Amino acid sequence: MSISKKGISVSPGFSIGNIVLINQARTIVDKKKINKNKIYHEINRLQKAVENSIREISELKKSSNYKLKSEHIDILDFNILILEDEILASEVIQKIKKELINAEWALNSVLTEKSKNYSKVKDIYMQERLADFYYIGERIIKNLRGTSDNLLELPKNSILVAHDLSPVDALKYCKNKNVIGLLMDLGGATSHTAIIAKSLSIPAIMSLGDISQVLQPGKKVYIDGYKGIVTWQLKKEEKDEILKLKDEYNIIEENLLEFSKLPSKTKDGIEILIKANIEITSELSSAIRYGAQGIGMYRTEFLYTTNERFPTEDEQFEDYKKLFNTNSFDSVTIRTLDIGGDKNFFQKDEINPAMGLRGIRYSLTNTETFIDQVKAIFRVCIDTKKKIRILLPMVSVLDEIIEAKSIIENLGNLSGANGLFEIGVVIETPSAAIMSKEISEIVDFISIGTNDLVQYILAADRNNEEVRPILNYYQPAVIRIIKDIVRRAQKDTYISICGEMANDILSLPLFIALKINELSMNCHSIPIIKSVINELEYDECKSAFDRCLQMNKSIDINTILKQLINKKIEKAKSIIQYEI
Ligand code: PEP
Ligand code: MG
Repeated sequence: MSISKKGISVSPGFSIGNIVLINQARTIVDKKKINKNKIYHEINRLQKAVENSIREISELKKSSNYKLKSEHIDILDFNILILEDEILASEVIQKIKKELINAEWALNSVLTEKSKNYSKVKDIYMQERLADFYYIGERIIKNLRGTSDNLLELPKNSILVAHDLSPVDALKYCKNKNVIGLLMDLGGATSHTAIIAKSLSIPAIMSLGDISQVLQPGKKVYIDGYKGIVTWQLKKEEKDEILKLKDEYNIIEENLLEFSKLPSKTKDGIEILIKANIEITSELSSAIRYGAQGIGMYRTEFLYTTNERFPTEDEQFEDYKKLFNTNSFDSVTIRTLDIGGDKNFFQKDEINPAMGLRGIRYSLTNTETFIDQVKAIFRVCIDTKKKIRILLPMVSVLDEIIEAKSIIENLGNLSGANGLFEIGVVIETPSAAIMSKEISEIVDFISIGTNDLVQYILAADRNNEEVRPILNYYQPAVIRIIKDIVRRAQKDTYISICGEMANDILSLPLFIALKINELSMNCHSIPIIKSVINELEYDECKSAFDRCLQMNKSIDINTILKQLINKKIEKAKSIIQYEI
Protein backbone atom coordinates (compact mmCIF):
# COMPACT_ATOMS: atom_id res chain seq x y z
CA MET A 1 0.00 0.00 0.00
CA SER A 2 1.19 3.48 -0.81
CA ILE A 3 1.70 6.14 1.85
CA SER A 4 0.27 9.65 1.39
CA LYS A 5 0.50 12.84 3.33
CA LYS A 6 -1.62 15.92 2.85
CA GLY A 7 -0.34 19.42 3.36
CA ILE A 8 -1.18 22.80 1.92
CA SER A 9 -0.88 23.16 -1.80
CA VAL A 10 0.99 26.40 -2.40
CA SER A 11 2.02 25.94 -6.02
CA PRO A 12 0.03 23.80 -8.46
CA GLY A 13 1.38 21.15 -10.81
CA PHE A 14 2.24 17.48 -10.81
CA SER A 15 5.74 16.02 -10.45
CA ILE A 16 7.35 12.63 -10.11
CA GLY A 17 10.90 12.69 -8.85
CA ASN A 18 13.48 11.67 -6.31
CA ILE A 19 14.01 13.16 -2.89
CA VAL A 20 16.91 15.46 -2.19
CA LEU A 21 16.95 16.32 1.47
CA ILE A 22 18.04 19.72 2.66
CA ASN A 23 18.90 19.45 6.33
CA GLN A 24 18.20 22.01 9.02
CA ALA A 25 21.49 23.70 8.27
CA ARG A 26 20.03 24.20 4.78
CA THR A 27 22.66 21.91 3.30
CA ILE A 28 21.87 19.07 0.94
CA VAL A 29 22.67 15.72 2.50
CA ASP A 30 23.22 12.60 0.50
CA LYS A 31 22.33 9.16 1.78
CA LYS A 32 24.50 6.39 0.37
CA LYS A 33 24.82 2.73 1.25
CA ILE A 34 28.43 1.62 1.72
CA ASN A 35 30.17 -1.76 1.59
CA LYS A 36 31.49 -3.27 4.81
CA ASN A 37 35.06 -2.81 3.63
CA LYS A 38 34.44 0.96 3.34
CA ILE A 39 33.42 1.45 6.99
CA TYR A 40 36.86 2.60 8.12
CA HIS A 41 37.24 4.82 5.12
CA GLU A 42 34.01 6.61 6.11
CA ILE A 43 35.09 6.87 9.77
CA ASN A 44 38.40 8.30 8.64
CA ARG A 45 36.65 10.90 6.47
CA LEU A 46 34.45 11.86 9.40
CA GLN A 47 37.39 12.24 11.77
CA LYS A 48 39.31 14.39 9.30
CA ALA A 49 36.25 16.59 8.69
CA VAL A 50 35.76 17.06 12.45
CA GLU A 51 39.45 17.91 12.92
CA ASN A 52 39.28 20.44 10.08
CA SER A 53 36.15 21.97 11.57
CA ILE A 54 37.81 22.35 15.00
CA ARG A 55 40.84 23.93 13.33
CA GLU A 56 38.66 26.38 11.36
CA ILE A 57 36.76 27.51 14.44
CA SER A 58 39.93 27.85 16.51
CA GLU A 59 41.47 29.96 13.75
CA LEU A 60 38.36 32.10 13.62
CA LYS A 61 38.73 32.66 17.36
CA LYS A 62 42.34 33.73 17.00
CA SER A 63 41.92 35.71 13.82
CA SER A 64 42.91 39.31 14.31
CA ASN A 65 40.37 40.35 11.67
CA TYR A 66 37.59 39.62 14.09
CA LYS A 67 37.33 41.56 17.30
CA LEU A 68 35.15 39.06 19.04
CA LYS A 69 32.98 39.89 21.98
CA SER A 70 33.06 37.53 24.92
CA GLU A 71 29.62 36.07 24.07
CA HIS A 72 30.88 35.28 20.57
CA ILE A 73 33.90 33.52 22.03
CA ASP A 74 31.53 31.52 24.26
CA ILE A 75 29.56 30.42 21.23
CA LEU A 76 32.69 29.35 19.36
CA ASP A 77 33.89 27.48 22.45
CA PHE A 78 30.54 25.74 22.63
CA ASN A 79 30.92 24.76 18.96
CA ILE A 80 34.37 23.31 19.64
CA LEU A 81 32.98 21.46 22.63
CA ILE A 82 30.33 19.77 20.51
CA LEU A 83 32.92 18.89 17.90
CA GLU A 84 35.23 17.40 20.51
CA ASP A 85 32.42 15.49 22.16
CA GLU A 86 33.47 11.86 22.00
CA ILE A 87 29.94 10.66 22.60
CA LEU A 88 28.76 12.48 19.51
CA ALA A 89 31.57 11.03 17.43
CA SER A 90 30.97 7.54 18.73
CA GLU A 91 27.22 7.78 18.01
CA VAL A 92 27.95 8.75 14.42
CA ILE A 93 30.55 5.99 14.06
CA GLN A 94 28.08 3.43 15.46
CA LYS A 95 25.52 4.52 12.91
CA ILE A 96 27.98 4.19 10.05
CA LYS A 97 28.90 0.70 11.21
CA LYS A 98 25.41 -0.53 12.02
CA GLU A 99 23.50 0.92 9.09
CA LEU A 100 26.33 0.83 6.53
CA ILE A 101 25.72 4.40 5.48
CA ASN A 102 27.94 7.30 4.50
CA ALA A 103 29.33 9.69 7.11
CA GLU A 104 27.22 12.65 5.91
CA TRP A 105 23.95 10.84 6.46
CA ALA A 106 25.00 9.31 9.80
CA LEU A 107 26.04 12.70 11.09
CA ASN A 108 22.86 14.34 9.86
CA SER A 109 20.68 11.76 11.66
CA VAL A 110 22.55 12.12 14.95
CA LEU A 111 22.52 15.93 14.87
CA THR A 112 18.82 16.02 13.94
CA GLU A 113 18.08 13.77 16.91
CA LYS A 114 20.16 15.98 19.24
CA SER A 115 18.60 19.21 18.01
CA LYS A 116 15.15 17.71 18.58
CA ASN A 117 16.09 17.05 22.21
CA TYR A 118 17.38 20.57 22.61
CA SER A 119 14.17 22.04 21.22
CA LYS A 120 12.24 20.43 24.09
CA VAL A 121 14.39 22.11 26.74
CA LYS A 122 12.68 25.15 28.25
CA ASP A 123 15.88 27.10 28.93
CA ILE A 124 16.12 29.89 26.34
CA TYR A 125 19.93 29.83 26.34
CA MET A 126 19.96 26.13 25.55
CA GLN A 127 17.26 26.62 22.91
CA GLU A 128 19.44 29.18 21.23
CA ARG A 129 22.26 26.64 21.11
CA LEU A 130 20.05 24.68 18.72
CA ALA A 131 21.27 26.88 15.93
CA ASP A 132 24.81 25.79 16.77
CA PHE A 133 23.93 22.22 15.93
CA TYR A 134 22.75 23.26 12.48
CA TYR A 135 25.84 25.35 12.00
CA ILE A 136 28.19 22.59 13.10
CA GLY A 137 26.43 20.04 10.91
CA GLU A 138 26.83 22.35 7.95
CA ARG A 139 30.54 22.91 8.65
CA ILE A 140 31.38 19.22 9.03
CA ILE A 141 29.42 18.30 5.92
CA LYS A 142 31.24 20.97 3.93
CA ASN A 143 34.52 19.55 5.16
CA LEU A 144 33.41 16.01 4.37
CA ARG A 145 32.84 17.08 0.83
CA GLY A 146 36.13 18.93 0.80
CA THR A 147 34.47 22.02 -0.62
CA SER A 148 33.18 25.24 0.76
CA ASP A 149 30.30 25.32 -1.69
CA ASN A 150 27.19 23.84 -0.13
CA LEU A 151 25.44 23.39 -3.45
CA LEU A 152 25.71 19.75 -4.38
CA GLU A 153 25.22 18.77 -7.95
CA LEU A 154 21.45 18.31 -8.08
CA PRO A 155 20.41 15.23 -10.04
CA LYS A 156 17.68 15.41 -12.68
CA ASN A 157 14.10 15.31 -11.32
CA SER A 158 15.05 16.42 -7.83
CA ILE A 159 12.29 17.00 -5.31
CA LEU A 160 13.60 19.11 -2.47
CA VAL A 161 12.47 18.23 1.03
CA ALA A 162 13.21 20.59 3.89
CA HIS A 163 12.01 21.35 7.37
CA ASP A 164 11.86 25.00 6.43
CA LEU A 165 13.51 26.98 3.67
CA SER A 166 13.95 30.73 3.50
CA PRO A 167 12.74 32.45 0.30
CA VAL A 168 16.36 33.24 -0.53
CA ASP A 169 17.45 29.61 -0.25
CA ALA A 170 14.34 28.48 -2.11
CA LEU A 171 15.29 30.71 -5.00
CA LYS A 172 18.92 29.56 -4.88
CA TYR A 173 17.96 25.88 -5.15
CA CYS A 174 14.79 26.08 -7.24
CA LYS A 175 16.37 28.11 -10.02
CA ASN A 176 18.22 24.90 -10.90
CA LYS A 177 16.27 23.30 -13.76
CA ASN A 178 16.71 19.85 -12.23
CA VAL A 179 14.42 20.81 -9.33
CA ILE A 180 10.83 19.81 -10.06
CA GLY A 181 9.17 19.94 -6.67
CA LEU A 182 9.37 21.27 -3.13
CA LEU A 183 8.05 19.75 0.10
CA MET A 184 8.32 21.40 3.49
CA ASP A 185 7.41 20.61 7.10
CA LEU A 186 6.50 24.25 7.74
CA GLY A 187 5.36 27.21 5.65
CA GLY A 188 2.13 28.86 4.60
CA ALA A 189 0.41 29.77 1.37
CA THR A 190 1.28 33.46 1.50
CA SER A 191 4.86 32.97 2.70
CA HIS A 192 7.53 34.32 0.38
CA THR A 193 8.92 30.81 -0.07
CA ALA A 194 5.53 29.76 -1.46
CA ILE A 195 5.52 32.82 -3.70
CA ILE A 196 8.94 31.85 -5.06
CA ALA A 197 7.85 28.26 -5.80
CA LYS A 198 4.77 29.56 -7.60
CA SER A 199 6.75 32.08 -9.58
CA LEU A 200 9.11 29.37 -10.79
CA SER A 201 6.15 27.05 -11.55
CA ILE A 202 7.50 24.39 -9.22
CA PRO A 203 4.78 22.25 -7.63
CA ALA A 204 5.07 22.74 -3.90
CA ILE A 205 3.36 21.51 -0.76
CA MET A 206 3.95 23.01 2.66
CA SER A 207 2.89 22.39 6.25
CA LEU A 208 3.52 18.67 5.86
CA GLY A 209 4.47 18.24 9.53
CA ASP A 210 7.40 15.84 9.71
CA ILE A 211 7.93 15.07 6.02
CA SER A 212 11.64 15.93 6.25
CA GLN A 213 12.05 13.16 8.78
CA VAL A 214 9.85 10.62 7.03
CA LEU A 215 11.29 10.80 3.52
CA GLN A 216 14.80 9.72 2.78
CA PRO A 217 17.12 10.85 -0.01
CA GLY A 218 16.75 9.06 -3.30
CA LYS A 219 13.19 7.85 -2.60
CA LYS A 220 10.69 8.28 -5.43
CA VAL A 221 7.69 10.49 -4.64
CA TYR A 222 4.64 11.79 -6.45
CA ILE A 223 3.65 15.39 -5.79
CA ASP A 224 0.11 16.48 -6.52
CA GLY A 225 0.51 20.21 -6.12
CA TYR A 226 -3.15 20.78 -7.05
CA LYS A 227 -4.53 18.85 -4.10
CA GLY A 228 -1.52 19.22 -1.79
CA ILE A 229 -0.83 15.48 -1.56
CA VAL A 230 2.52 13.72 -1.63
CA THR A 231 2.57 9.94 -2.16
CA TRP A 232 5.31 7.31 -2.08
CA GLN A 233 5.82 3.52 -2.03
CA LEU A 234 3.28 2.98 -4.81
CA LYS A 235 2.24 -0.47 -6.09
CA LYS A 236 2.00 -1.04 -9.83
CA GLU A 237 -1.81 -0.47 -10.05
CA GLU A 238 -1.54 2.64 -7.91
CA LYS A 239 1.13 3.99 -10.22
CA ASP A 240 -1.20 3.52 -13.20
CA GLU A 241 -3.93 5.41 -11.36
CA ILE A 242 -1.69 8.29 -10.51
CA LEU A 243 -0.35 8.53 -14.07
CA LYS A 244 -3.95 8.77 -15.31
CA LEU A 245 -4.43 11.66 -12.95
CA LYS A 246 -1.31 13.30 -14.35
CA ASP A 247 -2.85 13.11 -17.86
CA GLU A 248 -6.04 14.75 -16.56
CA TYR A 249 -4.01 17.57 -15.13
CA ASN A 250 -2.25 18.02 -18.46
CA ILE A 251 -5.64 18.61 -20.10
CA ILE A 252 -6.52 21.11 -17.39
CA GLU A 253 -3.30 23.00 -18.11
CA GLU A 254 -4.18 23.16 -21.81
CA ASN A 255 -7.63 24.55 -20.96
CA LEU A 256 -5.96 27.14 -18.83
CA LEU A 257 -4.16 28.50 -21.84
CA GLU A 258 -7.49 28.92 -23.61
CA PHE A 259 -8.75 31.06 -20.72
CA SER A 260 -5.61 33.19 -20.88
CA LYS A 261 -6.87 34.74 -24.13
CA LEU A 262 -10.12 36.01 -22.59
CA PRO A 263 -10.66 39.72 -22.01
CA SER A 264 -10.77 40.61 -18.32
CA LYS A 265 -14.26 42.07 -18.26
CA THR A 266 -17.39 41.19 -16.35
CA LYS A 267 -20.48 40.09 -18.27
CA ASP A 268 -21.77 43.65 -18.09
CA GLY A 269 -18.53 45.15 -19.31
CA ILE A 270 -16.67 46.31 -16.21
CA GLU A 271 -12.98 46.03 -16.88
CA ILE A 272 -10.47 44.99 -14.24
CA LEU A 273 -6.89 44.70 -15.49
CA ILE A 274 -5.13 41.44 -14.71
CA LYS A 275 -1.40 41.79 -14.36
CA ALA A 276 1.49 39.61 -13.22
CA ASN A 277 3.57 39.68 -10.07
CA ILE A 278 7.08 38.53 -10.88
CA GLU A 279 10.11 37.83 -8.73
CA ILE A 280 12.75 37.37 -11.42
CA THR A 281 12.76 38.79 -14.95
CA SER A 282 12.85 35.33 -16.54
CA GLU A 283 9.19 35.01 -15.48
CA LEU A 284 8.22 37.46 -18.22
CA SER A 285 7.62 34.63 -20.68
CA SER A 286 5.11 33.00 -18.28
CA ALA A 287 3.39 36.34 -17.78
CA ILE A 288 2.89 36.67 -21.54
CA ARG A 289 1.92 32.99 -21.94
CA TYR A 290 -0.80 33.20 -19.29
CA GLY A 291 -2.27 36.42 -20.65
CA ALA A 292 -1.01 39.10 -18.24
CA GLN A 293 -1.92 42.64 -19.28
CA GLY A 294 1.20 44.05 -17.72
CA ILE A 295 3.63 43.60 -14.86
CA GLY A 296 1.75 44.82 -11.80
CA MET A 297 4.61 44.26 -9.39
CA TYR A 298 8.23 43.25 -9.85
CA ARG A 299 9.50 42.20 -6.40
CA THR A 300 13.09 43.35 -6.87
CA GLU A 301 14.57 41.99 -3.65
CA PHE A 302 15.46 38.63 -5.15
CA LEU A 303 17.81 40.38 -7.57
CA TYR A 304 19.68 41.40 -4.45
CA THR A 305 20.27 37.78 -3.42
CA THR A 306 21.96 36.58 -6.59
CA ASN A 307 25.40 37.53 -5.32
CA GLU A 308 26.87 37.91 -1.87
CA ARG A 309 26.47 41.68 -2.27
CA PHE A 310 23.85 44.14 -3.49
CA PRO A 311 23.65 44.63 -7.27
CA THR A 312 25.35 47.70 -8.71
CA GLU A 313 23.37 50.42 -10.49
CA ASP A 314 24.60 49.02 -13.83
CA GLU A 315 23.51 45.47 -12.96
CA GLN A 316 20.09 46.75 -11.96
CA PHE A 317 19.81 48.79 -15.14
CA GLU A 318 20.51 45.66 -17.23
CA ASP A 319 17.97 43.66 -15.24
CA TYR A 320 15.11 46.20 -15.28
CA LYS A 321 15.64 46.83 -18.99
CA LYS A 322 14.71 43.20 -19.65
CA LEU A 323 11.14 44.04 -18.56
CA PHE A 324 10.67 45.80 -21.89
CA ASN A 325 12.69 43.33 -23.99
CA THR A 326 9.72 41.54 -25.49
CA ASN A 327 7.95 44.80 -26.22
CA SER A 328 4.81 43.28 -24.74
CA PHE A 329 4.19 45.90 -22.10
CA ASP A 330 4.07 49.68 -22.26
CA SER A 331 4.51 50.25 -18.60
CA VAL A 332 5.64 48.14 -15.68
CA THR A 333 5.52 48.54 -11.92
CA ILE A 334 8.79 48.05 -10.10
CA ARG A 335 8.60 47.73 -6.35
CA THR A 336 11.65 49.14 -4.59
CA LEU A 337 13.64 46.87 -2.31
CA ASP A 338 11.40 45.17 0.26
CA ILE A 339 14.21 43.70 2.32
CA GLY A 340 13.48 42.48 5.84
CA GLY A 341 10.82 40.33 7.45
CA ASP A 342 11.36 36.80 6.15
CA LYS A 343 13.53 38.21 3.36
CA ASN A 344 16.30 38.98 5.78
CA PHE A 345 19.53 38.80 3.83
CA PHE A 346 22.82 40.55 4.59
CA GLN A 347 21.08 42.23 7.48
CA LYS A 348 21.73 41.91 11.16
CA ASP A 349 19.27 39.72 13.01
CA GLU A 350 16.29 41.52 14.46
CA ILE A 351 14.23 40.36 17.42
CA ASN A 352 10.99 40.91 15.56
CA PRO A 353 11.84 41.14 11.84
CA ALA A 354 8.22 41.41 10.63
CA MET A 355 8.05 44.70 12.49
CA GLY A 356 11.62 45.75 11.93
CA LEU A 357 13.59 47.66 9.36
CA ARG A 358 11.54 46.44 6.39
CA GLY A 359 10.90 47.88 2.93
CA ILE A 360 10.90 51.66 2.72
CA ARG A 361 12.22 51.91 6.29
CA TYR A 362 15.38 50.13 5.13
CA SER A 363 15.64 52.23 1.97
CA LEU A 364 15.37 55.50 3.88
CA THR A 365 17.97 54.35 6.40
CA ASN A 366 20.30 53.21 3.62
CA THR A 367 19.71 55.96 1.09
CA GLU A 368 22.72 55.08 -1.08
CA THR A 369 21.08 51.70 -1.83
CA PHE A 370 17.75 53.41 -2.55
CA ILE A 371 19.38 56.03 -4.80
CA ASP A 372 21.20 53.33 -6.82
CA GLN A 373 17.91 51.58 -7.41
CA VAL A 374 15.98 54.68 -8.43
CA LYS A 375 18.81 55.82 -10.74
CA ALA A 376 18.82 52.41 -12.45
CA ILE A 377 15.04 52.64 -12.93
CA PHE A 378 15.33 56.13 -14.46
CA ARG A 379 18.07 55.02 -16.83
CA VAL A 380 15.68 52.35 -18.13
CA CYS A 381 12.86 54.92 -18.57
CA ILE A 382 15.15 57.16 -20.58
CA ASP A 383 16.72 54.33 -22.56
CA THR A 384 13.42 52.70 -23.53
CA LYS A 385 11.19 55.80 -23.42
CA LYS A 386 8.74 53.70 -21.45
CA LYS A 387 6.90 54.59 -18.28
CA ILE A 388 7.78 52.91 -14.99
CA ARG A 389 5.61 53.00 -11.90
CA ILE A 390 7.72 53.02 -8.77
CA LEU A 391 6.02 51.21 -5.91
CA LEU A 392 7.16 51.81 -2.32
CA PRO A 393 6.65 48.89 0.10
CA MET A 394 5.84 48.85 3.82
CA VAL A 395 5.03 52.51 4.33
CA SER A 396 3.39 53.24 7.63
CA VAL A 397 3.55 57.03 8.01
CA LEU A 398 3.16 59.97 5.62
CA ASP A 399 6.65 61.26 6.38
CA GLU A 400 8.16 58.18 4.78
CA ILE A 401 6.29 58.83 1.55
CA ILE A 402 7.19 62.53 1.56
CA GLU A 403 10.89 61.76 2.10
CA ALA A 404 11.01 58.98 -0.51
CA LYS A 405 9.12 61.14 -3.01
CA SER A 406 11.51 64.00 -2.55
CA ILE A 407 14.53 61.72 -3.21
CA ILE A 408 12.86 60.23 -6.29
CA GLU A 409 11.69 63.57 -7.69
CA ASN A 410 15.13 65.16 -7.22
CA LEU A 411 16.73 62.26 -9.05
CA GLY A 412 14.02 62.56 -11.72
CA ASN A 413 14.90 66.20 -12.28
CA LEU A 414 18.61 65.50 -12.41
CA SER A 415 18.33 62.57 -14.80
CA GLY A 416 15.70 64.01 -17.10
CA ALA A 417 13.21 61.24 -16.40
CA ASN A 418 10.34 63.59 -15.59
CA GLY A 419 7.07 62.48 -17.09
CA LEU A 420 8.35 58.94 -17.41
CA PHE A 421 7.54 57.72 -13.93
CA GLU A 422 4.77 57.58 -11.36
CA ILE A 423 5.03 57.00 -7.64
CA GLY A 424 2.74 54.70 -5.69
CA VAL A 425 2.72 52.90 -2.37
CA VAL A 426 1.75 49.48 -1.11
CA ILE A 427 -0.95 49.77 1.51
CA GLU A 428 -0.02 46.89 3.76
CA THR A 429 0.13 48.27 7.28
CA PRO A 430 -2.95 49.16 9.33
CA SER A 431 -1.70 52.74 9.71
CA ALA A 432 -1.35 53.20 5.95
CA ALA A 433 -4.84 51.71 5.53
CA ILE A 434 -6.30 54.25 7.96
CA MET A 435 -4.45 57.08 6.19
CA SER A 436 -5.45 56.06 2.66
CA LYS A 437 -7.18 59.43 2.02
CA GLU A 438 -4.10 61.47 2.88
CA ILE A 439 -1.81 59.01 1.11
CA SER A 440 -3.88 59.05 -2.06
CA GLU A 441 -3.57 62.85 -2.15
CA ILE A 442 0.22 62.69 -2.51
CA VAL A 443 0.80 59.60 -4.70
CA ASP A 444 -0.16 58.60 -8.24
CA PHE A 445 -1.55 55.17 -7.37
CA ILE A 446 -1.97 52.72 -4.52
CA SER A 447 -1.67 48.97 -4.37
CA ILE A 448 -3.20 46.96 -1.55
CA GLY A 449 -0.74 44.35 -0.28
CA THR A 450 -3.10 41.90 1.30
CA ASN A 451 -0.43 39.41 2.40
CA ASP A 452 1.03 41.76 4.94
CA LEU A 453 -2.12 43.78 5.51
CA VAL A 454 -4.03 40.68 6.62
CA GLN A 455 -1.19 39.49 8.87
CA TYR A 456 -0.88 42.89 10.55
CA ILE A 457 -4.62 43.46 10.95
CA LEU A 458 -5.13 40.07 12.54
CA ALA A 459 -1.73 39.95 14.27
CA ALA A 460 -1.26 36.50 12.75
CA ASP A 461 2.06 35.52 11.15
CA ARG A 462 1.67 34.78 7.43
CA ASN A 463 4.39 32.11 7.69
CA ASN A 464 2.75 30.20 10.50
CA GLU A 465 0.15 27.62 9.50
CA GLU A 466 -0.94 27.20 13.13
CA VAL A 467 -2.72 30.55 12.88
CA ARG A 468 -4.23 29.81 9.47
CA PRO A 469 -7.82 29.59 10.82
CA ILE A 470 -7.58 33.23 11.92
CA LEU A 471 -5.52 34.37 8.96
CA ASN A 472 -8.17 34.28 6.27
CA TYR A 473 -9.42 36.78 3.74
CA TYR A 474 -13.06 36.53 4.81
CA GLN A 475 -12.59 37.98 8.26
CA PRO A 476 -15.02 40.89 8.62
CA ALA A 477 -12.13 43.13 9.74
CA VAL A 478 -10.27 42.37 6.51
CA ILE A 479 -13.06 43.16 4.09
CA ARG A 480 -14.18 46.21 6.04
CA ILE A 481 -10.68 47.65 6.05
CA ILE A 482 -10.24 47.02 2.32
CA LYS A 483 -13.56 48.78 1.74
CA ASP A 484 -12.40 51.70 3.89
CA ILE A 485 -9.07 52.01 2.04
CA VAL A 486 -10.91 52.26 -1.27
CA ARG A 487 -13.73 54.51 -0.09
CA ARG A 488 -11.44 56.91 1.75
CA ALA A 489 -8.99 57.25 -1.13
CA GLN A 490 -9.41 60.21 -3.51
CA LYS A 491 -12.13 59.54 -6.05
CA ASP A 492 -9.97 58.88 -9.10
CA THR A 493 -7.12 57.06 -7.39
CA TYR A 494 -5.87 54.10 -9.41
CA ILE A 495 -6.10 51.13 -7.05
CA SER A 496 -4.67 47.67 -7.49
CA ILE A 497 -4.47 44.57 -5.32
CA CYS A 498 -1.04 42.94 -5.31
CA GLY A 499 -1.26 40.38 -2.48
CA GLU A 500 -2.30 36.75 -2.95
CA MET A 501 -5.93 37.69 -2.26
CA ALA A 502 -5.96 39.05 -5.82
CA ASN A 503 -6.04 35.48 -7.11
CA ASP A 504 -8.54 34.20 -4.59
CA ILE A 505 -11.62 33.32 -6.62
CA LEU A 506 -14.03 33.83 -3.74
CA SER A 507 -12.74 37.36 -3.18
CA LEU A 508 -13.38 38.43 -6.78
CA PRO A 509 -16.94 39.71 -6.17
CA LEU A 510 -15.55 42.05 -3.49
CA PHE A 511 -13.01 43.54 -5.87
CA ILE A 512 -15.58 43.94 -8.63
CA ALA A 513 -18.04 45.57 -6.22
CA LEU A 514 -15.32 48.01 -5.16
CA LYS A 515 -14.42 48.73 -8.81
CA ILE A 516 -10.74 47.95 -8.22
CA ASN A 517 -8.73 48.90 -11.32
CA GLU A 518 -6.18 46.10 -11.34
CA LEU A 519 -5.44 42.70 -9.83
CA SER A 520 -1.82 41.62 -9.90
CA MET A 521 -1.02 37.97 -9.24
CA ASN A 522 1.23 35.01 -9.90
CA CYS A 523 1.21 34.17 -13.62
CA HIS A 524 -0.39 30.74 -13.30
CA SER A 525 -3.56 32.11 -11.68
CA ILE A 526 -4.29 34.66 -14.40
CA PRO A 527 -6.34 32.42 -16.78
CA ILE A 528 -8.67 31.09 -14.07
CA ILE A 529 -9.28 34.55 -12.68
CA LYS A 530 -10.05 35.86 -16.17
CA SER A 531 -12.50 33.04 -16.77
CA VAL A 532 -14.39 33.72 -13.54
CA ILE A 533 -14.51 37.50 -14.07
CA ASN A 534 -16.18 36.80 -17.42
CA GLU A 535 -19.01 35.04 -15.60
CA LEU A 536 -19.73 37.74 -13.02
CA GLU A 537 -21.93 40.87 -13.13
CA TYR A 538 -21.49 44.04 -11.13
CA ASP A 539 -24.94 44.06 -9.48
CA GLU A 540 -24.68 40.56 -8.06
CA CYS A 541 -21.16 41.26 -6.79
CA LYS A 542 -22.31 44.51 -5.18
CA SER A 543 -25.25 42.88 -3.46
CA ALA A 544 -23.09 39.96 -2.17
CA PHE A 545 -20.51 42.49 -0.96
CA ASP A 546 -23.14 44.56 0.88
CA ARG A 547 -24.40 41.43 2.59
CA CYS A 548 -20.83 40.46 3.54
CA LEU A 549 -20.35 43.84 5.17
CA GLN A 550 -23.26 43.06 7.52
CA MET A 551 -21.66 39.83 8.74
CA ASN A 552 -19.67 39.45 11.93
CA LYS A 553 -18.05 36.09 11.24
CA SER A 554 -15.73 34.90 8.50
CA ILE A 555 -17.71 31.70 8.00
CA ASP A 556 -20.81 33.71 7.05
CA ILE A 557 -18.88 35.85 4.57
CA ASN A 558 -17.32 32.71 3.10
CA THR A 559 -20.79 31.15 2.68
CA ILE A 560 -22.21 34.20 0.87
CA LEU A 561 -19.26 34.29 -1.53
CA LYS A 562 -19.37 30.54 -2.16
CA GLN A 563 -23.08 30.70 -2.97
CA LEU A 564 -22.42 33.30 -5.64
CA ILE A 565 -19.24 31.83 -7.07
CA ASN A 566 -20.35 28.20 -7.21
CA LYS A 567 -23.11 29.15 -9.63
CA LYS A 568 -20.65 31.01 -11.82
CA ILE A 569 -17.78 28.71 -12.42
CA GLU A 570 -19.33 26.16 -14.74
CA LYS A 571 -16.74 26.74 -17.45
CA ALA A 572 -13.83 26.70 -15.11
CA LYS A 573 -15.18 23.95 -12.87
CA SER A 574 -12.86 21.18 -14.00
CA ILE A 575 -9.98 23.46 -13.18
CA ILE A 576 -11.17 25.13 -10.06
CA GLN A 577 -12.77 22.22 -8.24
CA TYR A 578 -9.55 21.44 -6.41
CA GLU A 579 -9.07 24.98 -5.26
CA ILE A 580 -12.33 25.99 -3.63
C1 PEP B 1 1.83 41.93 0.22
O1 PEP B 1 2.26 42.06 1.37
O2 PEP B 1 0.64 41.67 -0.02
C2 PEP B 1 2.73 42.03 -0.92
C3 PEP B 1 2.30 42.08 -2.14
O3 PEP B 1 4.05 42.03 -0.66
P1 PEP B 1 4.90 40.76 -0.21
O4 PEP B 1 4.06 39.53 -0.35
O5 PEP B 1 6.10 40.73 -1.10
O6 PEP B 1 5.25 41.08 1.20
MG1 MG C 1 4.23 42.92 1.66
